Amino acid sequence: MSKYEWIDHTYDVVVVGAGGSGLRAALGAAQAGLRTACVTKVFPTRSHTVAAQGGISASLGNMGEDDWRWHMYDTVKGSDWLGDQDAIEYLCRHAPDAVYELEHWGVPFSRTPEGKIYQRAFGGMTRNFGEGPVQRTCAAADRTGHAILHTLYGQAVKHQTEFFIEYFALDLIMDDDGACRGVTAWNLEDGKLHRFRAQTVILATGGYGRAYFSATSAHTCTGDGNAMVLRAGLPLQDMEFVQFHPTGIYGAGVLITEGVRGEGGYLTNSEGERFMERYAPSAKDLASRDVVSRSMTVEIREGRGVGPKGDHIYLHLDHLDPDVIYRRLPGISESARVFAGVDVTKEPIPVLPTVHYNMGGIPTNYHGEVLTKKGGDPDCVVPGLMAVGEAACVSVHGANRLGSNSLIDLVVFGRAAGLRAADILESGARQPELPSGAGDNSIARLDKFRNARGGTPTAELRDRMQHAMQTNCAVFRTGEVLDEGVKKIAEVYAGLPDIAVSDRTMIWNSDLVETLEFDNLIAQAAVTVNGAANRTESRGAHAREDFPDRDDENWMKHTLAWFDTESGQVTLDERPVHTYTLSNDIKYIEPKARVY
Ligand SMILES: Cc1cc2nc3c(=O)[nH]c(=O)nc-3n(C[C@H](O)[C@H](O)[C@H](O)COP(=O)(O)OP(=O)(O)OC[C@H]3O[C@@H](n4cnc5c(N)ncnc54)[C@H](O)[C@@H]3O)c2cc1C
Repeated sequence: MSKYEWIDHTYDVVVVGAGGSGLRAALGAAQAGLRTACVTKVFPTRSHTVAAQGGISASLGNMGEDDWRWHMYDTVKGSDWLGDQDAIEYLCRHAPDAVYELEHWGVPFSRTPEGKIYQRAFGGMTRNFGEGPVQRTCAAADRTGHAILHTLYGQAVKHQTEFFIEYFALDLIMDDDGACRGVTAWNLEDGKLHRFRAQTVILATGGYGRAYFSATSAHTCTGDGNAMVLRAGLPLQDMEFVQFHPTGIYGAGVLITEGVRGEGGYLTNSEGERFMERYAPSAKDLASRDVVSRSMTVEIREGRGVGPKGDHIYLHLDHLDPDVIYRRLPGISESARVFAGVDVTKEPIPVLPTVHYNMGGIPTNYHGEVLTKKGGDPDCVVPGLMAVGEAACVSVHGANRLGSNSLIDLVVFGRAAGLRAADILESGARQPELPSGAGDNSIARLDKFRNARGGTPTAELRDRMQHAMQTNCAVFRTGEVLDEGVKKIAEVYAGLPDIAVSDRTMIWNSDLVETLEFDNLIAQAAVTVNGAANRTESRGAHAREDFPDRDDENWMKHTLAWFDTESGQVTLDERPVHTYTLSNDIKYIEPKARVY
């Protein structure tokens, strides 16, 4: 092992990830005078947040009356009562301030004629506790994430966050007491290894959409932080809840934002019927995503899909004023032209439900502190470790996230993590030496893969995992299909010792990067499919044909999942849902049937 040398650093706070959540957290910590580093495997403005199109929710009330309590009601209902209501109150109450903060930092939002921030309708967003659609989603045309990410990066640089760009984080450094003391990383450019010691590590590594074959997310969305948490012996939460976005471009997987339906677009089947009117008589095409994705899947199954194979659905905006399309949806017009060869002013876009978002992730409280279950306490804080953004499960999205509720989650909880760090950490406080052997596990893992001379290329194993997830853990699930998925994923995992990595170098070795990412993905695939097989009810994005109803009595609880790297075994446990709010301004919202 001695052929590697560590380059050591000490910071107050180390953030892993430079998407919207990581940048917002880093900015908050740096503003509070904490010495802050941000480690990222891609250039900050290439993080997946850049691809967010439709917008960011907040009850500003610029297009008619709105109230954060209505936003909270919609989010709880959207979550199918799996979200923690203390955290949801925190999110919705602080959303408007978080958006104004972005505006003041320079995000170029679209404007109303009076110069206010423009807001559009989005699925599941209603007025007066479910009465009718409300325009709550603040937008910068259809490039909202791009605008936010660039603005936050500028601000983070301005506030002296120190960036380590194209550094691939490998593992958490944990001490014997179970506290996190830092993180290890590999500099892709020169091949050197680094240990970052910190009072607090904040994981902001995004989702793991690439466990599936067809996803709207970037190829970099491999959930590395989630896997680091599993390797540290800590659990992930609610991983069985995977969101399928109704409108990925057929064949390409590229996203067409829900904002299209917010601006008046609608779906049709092979009979030209606007079928969503049958499934969701009141919200129609703007029902929540799980509902629309299921309805589309049923239409296709029952023989009313479009195209030569009858295997997809049409999305129309050809009836809209071309000027509205030009001003509000320029990016998706381009995507439809490039990826489907369609002129959206004249023809419908061929679309299909596509993996889009992970509701599950690293369990945290609403301060961003990571939780584990220990000695019977389900809300035990892991010292020195926080998580924010799509990597985290706060849980505000529960079993199904509403569109435009992720971008707001990034900035509200990114800000909360910064505030918490400022609260509990002292700038420059002395830190104990790293535990002996810190980082040996990372070196052992690198060595294992650099010397992997087996017969199966990483790409082949990854392909098998992605197809198993796509086939056996999709929009509709049954016990039989999920059990088969559990078996297939275990077989892929068992294939790891025979993996072949062709390149031994440590410099720009994409084969090694992809192998580490695959190793991260397969652990998450295992906890996802095991969690899904275990949950014998239907809730939000988890739709079991053999258990079609929500079962609050037995299943209104979070799943916790641990993964044993040696054996590939998944261990499951549970955590209660928080059924209380933070203030008297709103009471706990009681479960009821979820209709749109
Ligand atoms: C196409 C698309 C459109 C979307 N549109 C919307 C929308 O309109 N509204 C909305 O609310 N939500 C939307 N979402 C969801 C939302 O954009 C994402 O959930 C959110 O941007 C995730 O942000 P993040 O900060 O958690 O992570 P990301 O933006 O994914 O960033 C992850 C960061 O972690 C870093 N990282 C990861 N692994 C490592 C490692 N091993 N070492 C070092 N660094 C690492 C990466 O370099 C990157 O900087 C959309 C998602 C997609 C895919």
